[in-house]
Formats: sequence, C-alpha cells, structure tokens
Amino acid sequence: MIEGKIIKISGPVVVAEGMAGAKMYEVVRVGEQKLIGEIIGLNRDRATMQVYEETAGLKVGEVVIATGRPLSVKLGPGLIHNIYDGVQRPLESIKAAQGSFIDRGFSGDELPRKAWKFVPSVAAGTTVSAGAIIGSVTESELVEHRILVPPNVSGELVKIAPEGMYDIEEDVAEVRTADGKTVQVKMYQVWPVRVARPYVRKYPPTIPLITGQRVLDTFFPIAKGGTAGIPGGFGTGKTVTQHQLAKWADAEIVVYVGCGERGNEMTQVLKEFPELIDPRSGKPITERTVLIANTSNMPVAAREASIYTGVTIAEYFRDMGYSVALMADSSSRWAEALREISGRLEEMPGEAGFPAYLASKLAGFYERSGRVETLNGDTGSLSIIGAVSPPGGDFSEPVTQNTLRVVKVFWALDKSLKDQRHFPSINWLSSYSLYLDDVEGWWSQHVDTTWRKTRDRAMEVLQKENELKEIVQLIGPDALPEKERVVLLAAQMIREDFLQQNAFHDVDSFCSEKKQVLMLQTIMSFYDEALKLVERGVPVAEIRQTSAIGRIGRLKYVEEAKVPSYLGEYQAALRAEFSSLSDQYTG
Ligand code: ADP
Ligand code: MG
Repeated sequence: MIEGKIIKISGPVVVAEGMAGAKMYEVVRVGEQKLIGEIIGLNRDRATMQVYEETAGLKVGEVVIATGRPLSVKLGPGLIHNIYDGVQRPLESIKAAQGSFIDRGFSGDELPRKAWKFVPSVAAGTTVSAGAIIGSVTESELVEHRILVPPNVSGELVKIAPEGMYDIEEDVAEVRTADGKTVQVKMYQVWPVRVARPYVRKYPPTIPLITGQRVLDTFFPIAKGGTAGIPGGFGTGKTVTQHQLAKWADAEIVVYVGCGERGNEMTQVLKEFPELIDPRSGKPITERTVLIANTSNMPVAAREASIYTGVTIAEYFRDMGYSVALMADSSSRWAEALREISGRLEEMPGEAGFPAYLASKLAGFYERSGRVETLNGDTGSLSIIGAVSPPGGDFSEPVTQNTLRVVKVFWALDKSLKDQRHFPSINWLSSYSLYLDDVEGWWSQHVDTTWRKTRDRAMEVLQKENELKEIVQLIGPDALPEKERVVLLAAQMIREDFLQQNAFHDVDSFCSEKKQVLMLQTIMSFYDEALKLVERGVPVAEIRQTSAIGRIGRLKYVEEAKVPSYLGEYQAALRAEFSSLSDQYTG
C-alpha cells in the first residue's frame, strides 16, 4: 500500500511526499478523516491532489493513502430518482442539496443497498460480447434497467442467476473469457469517470431531440446525440431553459447536472420535478431522471468532477440503447473550478486566468455526446446541453468562445430581449443550429413536409424586419411603404405569437411538433393574405384592427386537442374580415 505524508495544503489542493508508485488520477484518502481526493500531478515521490471535500482542519504531516483505483462511478439500478453530489455521494434530502454536508470521509453506498428483481434474458452456455444485455431490472415506472456485461469483458456465459430478488452486491452471472479467466458480473459495474465509455461507431445526427420549445425545435433544432450551448448573462433564462429541457425533451433518460449554481436553484428542481408529468408517458419525470446537485457552496474539486460523473452515468444509459439528454448548469462554474485549481497549482494562466487546457477539456466533454451503435449493436444517443454564464453577458470571454467552437447549436440569450420580457430570450439573429439540414427529413416524414420552408420564410421575415428597423431609425416609421409595414406586422406576430413561449403556463409550457407547424403556417398564410390586401390598397393599419390577429395570438394557449376547431373558427373570422376590407377598398 502506498502511504504518503502531507507537506502542503492550499484549499482543495494538497501535496504529499512518499507517494512513489502512485498513478495519475488515482483516488486517494487524505488525512485522518480520509477525505476523498484524486492525484492530478506527480513529480518523483510527490503527488499533488485535488480533494473533493472541505479541507479545513486538515494538517501537514497527516497520512495520504493511495487506493489504486481511478475516480469512478458505480453504474447500476438505483441511479434513477437519486440525487448525487459531484463524486456520486447520494444527497438524501433537500436540506443536503442546500449545502449542509454529508459527513466528511463518507464512503457509503453510491447505489441503494437493496434487492432488485433480476430477470435474465440469456441462457447459460451462450457467448456474450462486451456490452451484451444479460437481463433486466424494473428500476422505475419508466426505466427498464438493462444489465450489461461490462465493456471490457466477453466470453462464455457459464452461469446466470434465475429470475428472483438479488441484493445489489450479489453476483448474477459468470463469464469465462478467452484467456480462461472467470469474471463475476453484478447488476452494477464500475467505470472511471474521465474515460469515455466505448461504442462501435457514431451515426449521423438525423433525428431531432424534440423539446416542445418552439424557438428551439422549429428555429434552432438540436439533434439526438447533438450538442448545444446556452450562453447568457445573469437572469436571462439559462436555468429556466435547462429546466424546460429536463421536463419536456423527448429523452428516455435525463441527467441533470446542477454545476455550481446557487443552491436555491437546485432546491427548486428538487421541489418542482416530482410534481411534473411527462407528456408522453403520463408518469412523473423523476421516474427517468438522475440529478447531480453540486451547488456553489460545495468544494470546487467536486464541482470539477461533477460533469464527468454526470456524463459517465449518461453514457451508461446510452449503452442500454436509450436516448439520453444531459444538461449542465452551468459549464462556466465548472470552468471556474478548473481555474481555481489551476491557480493553486501555480500553472501558467491563459486568457482571463483560465488554464491553457480549458479548450481541450471543454471539447473533451462535448465529444462524449453522439448517437451511436452500442457495443451490443443497439442504438443509443447522448445529447449534451451546457449553459454558459459569461461575466457581464460578454460573449467574447474564453468559456463562451471555446464552447462556441465545439457545440453545433448556439442558443444565444439576450439581455435586451429579457428586458422587454420576450421569453425565452433567445436571439433569433445571433443563434444558430448546424443540424437544420440533418433533421429536415425527419420533420418532413413525421410531421409536415413544409416545416423547413415555413421556418425559412419566417426567418427571412425576421431578418427583413431587422433591416427595416434600421431604416425606420433613419427616416421615421411614416416613410415606410405599406408593403414593408406588413413585413413588420408579420415579424411582430412571429416574435410574439410564436417565438415567445411562457414556461410557466400550463398549456404553453410545451408545444407539440404538429402544433408548432400549424402555428407558424397560420402566421405565414395570414401574412400572404395580408400582402394581397395591401396590394389591393388596404392600409396595414386596418389589417391590424382585425380580430384574426388576436385569435392567432391566443393560439398558443389552446390545448392541442382543441386546436383544429379553434383554427376553423379563426379561418371563418379571417375570411369574413378580409373580404369585408377588400370590398371596402376595391368596391
Ligand atoms: P439565469 O439562469 O440565466 O440566471 P433564469 O433561468 O433564472 O436566469 O431566468 C430568470 C427569470 O427569467 C426567471 O425567473 C423567469 O422569470 C424569467 N424567464 C426566463 N425564461 C422564461 C420563460 N421561457 N418563460 C417565462 N419566464 C421566463
Ligand atoms: Mg441560472
């Protein structure tokens, strides 16, 4: 056993000598309290470690023990419903999430110590490949937890447990490998968090991750297995957007990493999520959610680890063939943890004090996303959505810029939109999605063939509005020709009646794909009809008075089932009003 002595303590960073033979990223137990730490630097017999627990009271001379294992998570039944800190210690109550600590030196059960009903799906004597499914456990109302052969094990399945109740620590199978070794398989496996779990290959991102948020799905879609960044200054709506995604995204599993944000935001998640019902299954969303609550008052090193803990859990469910979405709020707090540790290590600071490896670390995190062929030939996906909190809302800072370089979707939150109470305050001119072409086929096939065309036309109207606004500023609104005023009217309708979506409204909080298309088509055909009227000499001011506009405005609050009859009434009103205007001005 390698046992060293502490020679230096600097916040979360501890240096010990007498550690010859220890390895990088090995987990250590630090001091009398056996605090959990990880080796992040080695120089002959000196090890530099980051400690995941509060180091107050730790003294020079205390013992450090190397455990021989890398920082790992336990992956098995009991993850769902659970709430962990950044190094997979279960936080049992809301109180814990607010920051009162679990005893230091904790070495409890990452997975609840209970019996599960294991149902085998293969017989003894078969050959099993790495990642093969050998059975299942009903983990929650929504999740069938598939028991997998670990990624580095394959061979002949010599034994498998019959259907029955087994404690999480019991062996349920035995595999004899090609080189004659016998490996016991439990319902859980252990995996090092800093190593991506293997898969066969990545598939193209052709299926959208539907979120029920109009500005996201229709304007800037993310694909299953894709990546998105949400940058925004304080109070612009990052957390509300992440919560909306956790609630409504059509993922089978959600891993939510509260990463260094205020404790009360996590408390809100804990209070709110159990009451929410998944619109697709009718079951509480907590039945498919794993929470990692690493708040701002928890140790920085644990925050640094939290996104790896989260992404490893997410990959594990991907490997079962599920579509998984991971939200991290906020990746900036994670980067700040990295910066603080780097500073303690006295590394050469880069831009804004962040270490030079910030870019590669961020890229490494997002690269763990993807829609993949799993080791057992199934398809699973992991989508990653990270919030970014640039100081002062200035997107030129390093975390935003480095995120922009790796993610394929950029949902730029805008303070001026927020000030106008335009929510979600996603700026339609500076946001983008590189998945538009990829997911177009899916929309055509599953929802409506005109989706892309309608979306692009609406986008053109918004861009045109932006140009016209500059002109209006120069020459005043009265000088604009009627044909251009109707563009302003259409743009206003797109913004207010489509893009704005109230996260806190029972109906409006979630909008189906079908309804999104209907809403935008309705606005765009109103625009077409209005243009025709204008050409016949009807002033835009008159068109603005019609009740049809107000009806379009209320469409977002109409329950899905009532949309067709509502639209029927709208169309009748529109026809009546428009033909009367037409008669008035041409008759
Ligand atoms: P951030 O995490 O960026 O600091 P929040 O997500 O906490 O900001 O949002 C701040 C406030 O903005 C919320 O409390 C809410 O009042 C408002 N808000 C943001 N998005 C929406 C939305 N989609 N619908 C309604 N209100 C919103
Ligand atoms: Mg927030």
